[in-house]
Amino acid sequence: MGFSTDAIHAGQEPDLKTGAVITPIYQTSTYAQEELGKHKGYEYARTQNLTRESLEKNIAALEKGKYGIAFSSGLAATNALMSLVKSGDHIIISNNVYGGTYRLYELVMKDFGLDYSWVDTSNLKNIDNAIKPNTKIVYVETPTNPMLTITDLIGVSEICKKNKFISIVDNTFMSPYFQNPLELGCDIVLHSTTKYINGHSDVVGGIVVTKSEKIHERLRYIQNAAGAIPGPFDCWLILRATKTLAVRMDRHEKNANKLAEYFEKNNKAKKVFYPGLKSHPQHELAKKQMRGFGGMISVDFGDIKTAKKVVNNVKIFTLAESLGGVESLVCHPASMTHASVPKAERDKMGLTESLVRFSVGIEDIEDLIKDIDNILG
Ligand SMILES: *Cc1c(COP(=O)(O)O)cnc(C)c1O
Repeated sequence: MGFSTDAIHAGQEPDLKTGAVITPIYQTSTYAQEELGKHKGYEYARTQNLTRESLEKNIAALEKGKYGIAFSSGLAATNALMSLVKSGDHIIISNNVYGGTYRLYELVMKDFGLDYSWVDTSNLKNIDNAIKPNTKIVYVETPTNPMLTITDLIGVSEICKKNKFISIVDNTFMSPYFQNPLELGCDIVLHSTTKYINGHSDVVGGIVVTKSEKIHERLRYIQNAAGAIPGPFDCWLILRATKTLAVRMDRHEKNANKLAEYFEKNNKAKKVFYPGLKSHPQHELAKKQMRGFGGMISVDFGDIKTAKKVVNNVKIFTLAESLGGVESLVCHPASMTHASVPKAERDKMGLTESLVRFSVGIEDIEDLIKDIDNILG
């Protein structure tokens, strides 16, 4: 099936009892059992919930996977992934991942005996060079936040297959509409459904998708054993949102392309980072592994004064953390999303004090450009 057909139908059948076309919100914690040892496959809602199962099947189909395992946040999913390894194991990971991923792994999980190498995975040689006898996982985010650097996913999956590592890709920035890492040979896809998948800035959620039965079994076990499950209403909202994912992503991208072109022509924007621009150093790789370039743009204004002027004076864009919603947001990564990353690390990747990140929404592009142009002139 095509993406939009799956988005609207996969994992959802009319309700057995009433024929309700939309999957109901099964807001219940427990289920009646007919007699001792006889039930309908539903015992307790941490373990089984039909609204959640529909969502898991739906996103698994969109990611061309077999199994989806939903969590209460992107970070709860990120945390569950570490149950695939044991104390003493080593993980190679992109140095420019989401700030919360860095905090969880480096400042929390390390205390449980896990060893992390933070490397620039956009150069595959750095992955090869970081391999240790106890390496078990290669974890990448592509494009990265906020520098929009791209890692070659076929290259990563080949390294992992050769060495029997598990490859994990945080696909939040692209959404399943623009990139399917499982199709490129990777083992696990992770999403913060909070972002593009839900897209309406009203839910926090996460999901992991895989084709591997073994990985699925372990993560399904952890979902129930550790219990970081999303509530039925949140699952229902996300399920409602995936129906329009394709049309939203097309519009996000169309708007982002136009805004990126505007920035390239404006001499106040010193550097523009957007994979869809020919000037992006990995534009060709982006074209090869992505079906679109997404809705995120970063701009270095060269001095902090201009950067501040932009974030403080926008009228339609809102100054806020997060991304991927229908409304346009603007953020100052150095002091907001990436404040927990040491300055030396930020400087190394070009994340300067004058960098501003734009999550381009689906408003009228003329209004968005005017909003910025009124400030930059
Ligand atoms: C937001 C985000 C996360 C974390 O997800 P939460 O839903 O906020 O817990 C992980 N990865 C990326 C790329 C993100 O943008």
